[in-house]
Amino acid sequence: MTCKYTKSKKIEPLKPSCKKPTYNSLEEAQEMVRYVYATRVTRQIRPYKCPICGLWHLTSSKSK
Ligand SMILES: [Zn+2]
Repeated sequence: MTCKYTKSKKIEPLKPSCKKPTYNSLEEAQEMVRYVYATRVTRQIRPYKCPICGLWHLTSSKSK
């Protein structure tokens, strides 16, 4: 039985392990924050840099 099954060697660096939407830069994330505020009523959100994927996410932080 020839197991010629090539393991998917395609390592895609652009695919972060997070399922959240990601932003490449703080500016991009802030732009999205503004967009969200402008289009819908929402909780306070802020961008933060993810330690897992190294990109930016938005989090809705309950004001502490
Ligand atoms: Zn992440």
